Amino acid sequence: MKSSQKGSHNLVKQMNKTTVFETIRNKGPISRAQISKTSGLNKATVSTMVSELINTFFVYEIGEAKSSGGRKPVMLHFNHHAGYSIGIDLGVNYIFGILTDLSGNIIESTLINLPSTEFNRVIDQLNDIIHSLIDKAPKSPYGIVGIGIGVPGQIDQDGVILFAPNLNWSKTNLKKIVEDKFHIPTKIENEANAGAHGEQLHGVGKDISDQIYLSIGIGIGTGIIINHQLYKGASGIAGEMGHITIDANGRKCSCGSRGCWELYASEGALLQAAANESIIQKNQAADFDFLLEQAKEGNPVVLQLLNTLGENIGIGIVTIINTFNPGVVIIGNRMAQFENWITNPIERILEERLSDNHKRNTELRFSMLGNHSISLGANSFVITDFLARHKIQNGNYH
Ligand SMILES: [Zn+2]
Repeated sequence: MKSSQKGSHNLVKQMNKTTVFETIRNKGPISRAQISKTSGLNKATVSTMVSELINTFFVYEIGEAKSSGGRKPVMLHFNHHAGYSIGIDLGVNYIFGILTDLSGNIIESTLINLPSTEFNRVIDQLNDIIHSLIDKAPKSPYGIVGIGIGVPGQIDQDGVILFAPNLNWSKTNLKKIVEDKFHIPTKIENEANAGAHGEQLHGVGKDISDQIYLSIGIGIGTGIIINHQLYKGASGIAGEMGHITIDANGRKCSCGSRGCWELYASEGALLQAAANESIIQKNQAADFDFLLEQAKEGNPVVLQLLNTLGENIGIGIVTIINTFNPGVVIIGNRMAQFENWITNPIERILEERLSDNHKRNTELRFSMLGNHSISLGANSFVITDFLARHKIQNGNYH
């Protein structure tokens, strides 16, 4: 066989294996005959691929399904316990980590509040969380297959944090730091991209082709999904909608510009406004929870702050809807916890300022995954990469 023929033979084999694996993963439990029928591959090919997938622990067979006469077929399942994965949401004032199986089912989760964004202290706490999650992973053939970390900042294609204004970090090779420490493949992704991916796979963005995920934390990031694909821009840093100017002569922003949206519409903006009213001290890790409690108790000053914040969020969403014409805009990250108090002011602004066509075609939703969308999304990226390394899934994130 010539090498080019061998190459294309291998490629066909790989594609067939991917097809068989995806069929089992999406439609299992399923028999070999059913796989053949739904995929169009012949039974011998299916049988060979299934054997390879069983030998490599990705698939297992179990029980006997009812069949119309003749032999009873054995059913095939995706072995989502073949390995485990870690997803981290590295916030400005907290770290949230999850351990999942290969289907993204959460086995363990852990949250710590960060008293400081000082790099070495954050790295120490990040290491502690990763260690504790690794320790909790059940024994499995592949162990921990990857660590995905969502970070609020601009990340280049090599996982280098170029600029994270709210963390005050720049040019940081976090991927290398984590891989050198744990020797596990690690992926660093912008947190809003991770959140968008998480909602698309597991949350309120499921099956919606065009959607914008707003990660409203200390700052605001946006994850842009166009035609089911994450849009990352020419150098991977698209979606910095938190820095669109909404007040031409406004306050200076950590990005270097002025009057940026996130100065008026983020958790950071809420904390600042609450500190100005002397409701909180400012920059205490527990401030967010305190304000949530106060909102639940009906503190009129807090409710007024949330009303103004909601209006400011709405103003930025108007620009987003005019730009992208998305099917849904999803509000995620910690601000989603204020849904009860910010929905009305946001919707009022959209009602006042959007054209009728946009009003009809765009829906506002709050993250269904709550605090989990970023960690789940980051985690899904590394599971996809792991399956792609084993040539049973293509490496595209959609
Ligand atoms: Zn800015």
